[in-house]
Amino acid sequence: MQTNKLKVIYDKYRENKLAHAYLIETNNINCLLNDLKELIKALNCPFKYNSFCSTCNLCNLIEKNNLPSIITITPDGAYIKKNQIEELKISFETKPIYSKYNIYIILNAEKLNHSSANAMLKFVEEPTEGILGFFITTNKDIIIPTIKSRCQSYVILYETEDILAKLNIDQEKLESNLSDLKEYLSKIASNNYINHKEFILSKYPDRKDIEILFTILLKAYEENLNKLLHKNKSTLPLSSLNITDNLEFTIKKMNILSKFLQDLSYNGNIELLLDKFVIEMRSIHE
Ligand SMILES: [Zn+2]
Repeated sequence: MQTNKLKVIYDKYRENKLAHAYLIETNNINCLLNDLKELIKALNCPFKYNSFCSTCNLCNLIEKNNLPSIITITPDGAYIKKNQIEELKISFETKPIYSKYNIYIILNAEKLNHSSANAMLKFVEEPTEGILGFFITTNKDIIIPTIKSRCQSYVILYETEDILAKLNIDQEKLESNLSDLKEYLSKIASNNYINHKEFILSKYPDRKDIEILFTILLKAYEENLNKLLHKNKSTLPLSSLNITDNLEFTIKKMNILSKFLQDLSYNGNIELLLDKFVIEMRSIHE
């Protein structure tokens, strides 16, 4: 729990001062959910929990989102609906069998409307021992006050590497680069890779734009590497590329990409570099 941003809640638990409901505002839901999962393991683990508790059945079930006593609610359409909360209440009428707590997580808690928030109130106004709630939002200012006033609240911020600022491009340009990269990757992996150069050069006549395009690709592999190393299952900013390479292939491809970008910056011949890139990328899978 040392590097976990929710350690503050774990410390309260150790002091026996756990609240029954928490409202957490964050700038990065995915990172927060990872930290929350670790916290939930730490609160429930019957053994001496550590971040690598892989021996324990309970931690494994929590990792796989397979524990019935942990329920996550997300908006059904525009709002979180009253019947979703009613179903939650029914599920939590019984005490958990394996874990210490029945835990509900309300994602996008700002999407609770008046009727679902009212249905929720019983949990937060008359807390039942053993039920623990987490309301997660990116903006706690717009949370319905009846909920807000009954939760212990925290703002948990993560440093995010801002690829847009780094490459000096806007979201729209990133999206179009990602969509072209997706097509390019499937092209160079297929037998129909002959016109790979034309594909790039017709859309990206400037060396600078090619540099941005391939830097995004390198970042996407970096993201995949982090995902593999940290067993992170969340959705990441560049995940629309659907990179599924294993650790070995990911590292090899990152090396090829770094070399390509280096050669590109040394004014290497673009057509030759693109040819070399495709041959090297394909050779990994041969
Ligand atoms: Zn455990």
